[in-house]
Amino acid sequence: MQHKIPLSESHINIDLKTSFSSIDIDVVAEFEKSLEKYYDYKKSVLAVNSGTSAIHLALILSGVEKGDEVLCQSLTYVATINPIIYQNATPIFIDSEQDTWNMCPIQLERAIKDRILKGKKPKAIVVVHLYGMPAKIDEIVAISRKYNIILIEDAAEALGAEYKGKKCGAFGDFGILSFNNNKIVSTLGGGALICNTEIEKEKAFFYATQAKENERHYEHKVIGYNYRMNSLGALIGIAQLKKLKTYLKKRRIINDFYKESFKNFSGVFFLKEHSASIVSNHWLSCILLEVEEVAVTKHKLLDVLKKNNIEIRFFWKPMHLQPVFKEYPYYGGEIAENLFQKGICLPSGSTLLKNDLIRISECIKKFL
Ligand SMILES: *Cc1c(COP(=O)(O)O)cnc(C)c1O
Repeated sequence: MQHKIPLSESHINIDLKTSFSSIDIDVVAEFEKSLEKYYDYKKSVLAVNSGTSAIHLALILSGVEKGDEVLCQSLTYVATINPIIYQNATPIFIDSEQDTWNMCPIQLERAIKDRILKGKKPKAIVVVHLYGMPAKIDEIVAISRKYNIILIEDAAEALGAEYKGKKCGAFGDFGILSFNNNKIVSTLGGGALICNTEIEKEKAFFYATQAKENERHYEHKVIGYNYRMNSLGALIGIAQLKKLKTYLKKRRIINDFYKESFKNFSGVFFLKEHSASIVSNHWLSCILLEVEEVAVTKHKLLDVLKKNNIEIRFFWKPMHLQPVFKEYPYYGGEIAENLFQKGICLPSGSTLLKNDLIRISECIKKFL
């Protein structure tokens, strides 16, 4: 059996000569500084234990509470939605559009107008840059301003992606990043909340550390969470972030390889950056299978690759089609659903070697 090719593996570098105490928070602060540097010191960043907790904190800081409505992209990982439920709020799902596979601005505005007509203005919008491809953020920012609704940017998959020279994660009232095991930069579990002001960061810190009031004894007036990043994760993050450019280059090379490799296959469609000022980080290289009986073909392909010890993944199943969320409203058509039917994520980790890529593409070509 040939060695296993995982979907998305990232490098882990750690300087083991460094030592620090378990209550030393300096490394966490240093990691936050390096993230703030990444955002040209225009943001205040709080490092937390997952991207999911960062979204939860963003919702809390946005004032989302019981009964509030939150507009969110349907085609995403469940981590985007779960924190809305933690707040006892209602997700309102929005379809994707074809150019970026992300939230459709037209359906978003339609939903806002309809929710207002029904008597309630939504509290927040959560947009995602899926697989590292920037969403139509200019349009979405404009809508959020026009209706005065808070914008949260789920940039969990988009560290390193850019839109008109500005980094993903920097457009919203809040942004979030994830450093879980398969993201471009991993801290072996972690995330970050990107705030516009230091005051917001401090407020997020308060909630992320069990909401301790400023007293000598432990005084609590509201419910808090245990969401802080640990020092070892931060140490890994510092080392990794320094190599972000290398990792981005690697993921782009992988994407270019696949594109070149399948250029004569009409049944294989790649999403392209739809303008020169839009830069994907190519976290995952994705294809749409434009073939007949795609549902059957997709499963056969997965089986064949599994036999060859190669891991691929179907697209995220849209949230409005998930049993757990079936009671919530949805605005849109069948774009997200179609993408789910046809979409496959190919192995894209920065540890892949040229021989791995050849093995993967030969295997898929032979199957097709
Ligand atoms: C990874 C991811 C998250 C956060 O995930 P964690 O595992 O909690 O760090 C959030 N949204 C999207 C779209 C993701 O891919």
